Parts: sequence; C-alpha cells; structure tokens
Amino acid sequence: AAKSEERNAFRFYSPIMQADARKRLQLASELRQALANDEFRLVFQPSLELRTGRIVAVEALLRWQHPKRGLVMPDSFIPMAESLGLIRRIDEWVLRAACAWIRQWDREHIAPIRVAVNVSASWFGHPAFIEGLHTALRDYQVDPKRLLLEITESAILRLGEGTHRTMYALHTMGVGVAIDDFGTGYSSLAYLKLPAVVCLKIDRTFITGIPRSPDDVAIVEAILAMSRSLKLYAIAEGIEDEAQHEFLLRAGCEEGQGYLYARPLEVPDLLRMLKSGGGNPPTRLRLVP
Ligand code: C2E
Ligand code: MG
Ligand code: MG
Ligand code: MG
Repeated sequence: AAKSEERNAFRFYSPIMQADARKRLQLASELRQALANDEFRLVFQPSLELRTGRIVAVEALLRWQHPKRGLVMPDSFIPMAESLGLIRRIDEWVLRAACAWIRQWDREHIAPIRVAVNVSASWFGHPAFIEGLHTALRDYQVDPKRLLLEITESAILRLGEGTHRTMYALHTMGVGVAIDDFGTGYSSLAYLKLPAVVCLKIDRTFITGIPRSPDDVAIVEAILAMSRSLKLYAIAEGIEDEAQHEFLLRAGCEEGQGYLYARPLEVPDLLRMLKSGGGNPPTRLRLVP
C-alpha cells in the first residue's frame, strides 16, 4: 500500500506558490507543525554494489505525511522550506532520525550498511552544523564511518569561505561527503580535492541516456575515469533498466541506486530486502563481468 501511495503522491506545492505570500505563510506554519507533530518520516533507498548485488548502503529520503493532503514528496516542499528558512531544522531532524535508525538496526544486528543523508547548503554552511552533527552522532552513539552526507554540486557552489573549514572538520571526524547530482552544477572541479569528499553520485539525467546516447556514454565514462584517478568512488543514481546496469557494471562504476533494484522503501520493506540479501530481483541480473 505504501508503495502505490508513493507513486500517486500528490505534488501539491507548486513553484507558483513562491509568488503567493499568503500561501507561503500557510506553508511555513504547516512545516513548523509537521516538525512538532511528527508528520515527517524517512524512507530508505538501497544502494547496491554492482559487482555483487549486495546492498551496501541506503539513502534516507524524507516523506511528509500531511494530515489533510496525504503523502507530500520532498521536491514539492524542500525548495520552499529553503526559502522560508526552515530547511536547517528539517535537515537536522532528518540527520537525527537517520542516526536513531542506525542505532536501532545495530541493536537488532542488522547488517552495518552505510546511511546517506541529504544536507542542504543552508545547513551545511551554517556555523552550528558541525556541532549539530557531533551531537547527533554522540546522542545515538553512531560510528561516523556509517554516515555519508550528500550535498549537491550546485549547493557546494553557493557555499563560500567556510566550506573548506567544514570539510576539514568532517574529515577529522571521519564523516564522508558525496557530491550529489554530479554533472549538473556547471562548476569548477576544484572542490573535488576538498578533504572529506569521497564519493560522486552521477546524476540521473546522464544515466537515463546510456547506453543509447553517445554523449551520455562519454560523460559517464569521463566521470568514472576522473573519479578513479581522484580515488573517489562513484554511485550511479536512477538506474531503471538492465542495459544501464550492464553498461555501468562494465564501465567500473562501484555502486548503483534505482528503481531497477528498489524504490525508496519503508523500514519493514527494507529489512525484508536486507534479510533476503540483495536487489530486486538480484538473480536476474548478471552481477559479475
Ligand atoms: P536526490 O538526493 O538526488 O534523491 C534521489 C531522488 O531520485 C529520490 O526522489 C528518489 O526517489 C529518486 N529516484 C531514485 N531512483 C530512481 C529511478 O530509478 N528513477 C527515477 N525517476 N527516480 C529515482 P525523492 O525522494 O522524491 O527526493 C527528491 C530530492 O529531494 C532528493 O534528490 C533530494 O535532493 C531532496 N531530498 C530528499 N530528502 C531530503 C532530505 O532529507 N533533506 C534534504 N535537504 N533534501 C532531501
Ligand atoms: Mg541524494
Ligand atoms: Mg541525487
Ligand atoms: Mg537527484
């Protein structure tokens, strides 16, 4: 039921609302209520090691169970939450919720997979960010190595001076950073040398075109080559068919995420999949070259 609900989720908050002051105010108060009334929850999308089909990580993705509108997807409220100045509190809620899950899974002896959490520029760039991260890790006794912070390439570009300091602090703490939606930021590549950056997540827009589009093939191969030379690892996002899987496996991409293996899952579904040991359906895929 949760899955079909997810597919039909109502994208209520359109960008048009950006212009409507009254509705902005209403959304701001609804988001505050959502935080206070526990209307947020996390779903988790598995990330598979392509060579073996093993689930090695999950990405935490936010869902808003609105009391009247039902399930609201992040694309329809995260950008607004950013412009309303509420994203930092939401991001911190997400991080703490993810840490609480890690702690609970450890207690239940679930496989120690890595958990990726999306962090917005406004929290990542905030002076209280490192402190908030420290506190969450300490409160839930989470090994920093279990966490991966995803920050989009375009967010990194908006960050200024403090970025290097923050990355250094993360590196010292042992928390890794993935550059999310990589390839869409039209940026300088200098930040790939920053400490703590360990992973590139190749944007879905390039994965969609492989292996048909020679341009997308060239771009993905170039990203993989660069990622190897820089000793980063790569995750392809949005893998939907076996031809994409085959191509990425052969091209040496380490990890993949996408509807081919699993949609974002409610926790009980994730635990079932972890117990059955793999992707959806792992046996149909040729996993080792
Ligand atoms: P993202 O971090 O790039 O997350 C991947 C999005 O692609 C997710 O959408 C996921 O459901 C979707 N996806 C995964 N595999 C496939 C596939 O094979 N095909 C297609 N078409 N889509 C796929 P979702 O959950 O709607 O999240 C959208 C975006 O919202 C995320 O993009 C992220 O930027 C943002 N977001 C989600 N949760 C959080 C959060 O807790 N904090 C912040 N700051 N942003 C979040
Ligand atoms: Mg992400
Ligand atoms: Mg992404
Ligand atoms: Mg994306």
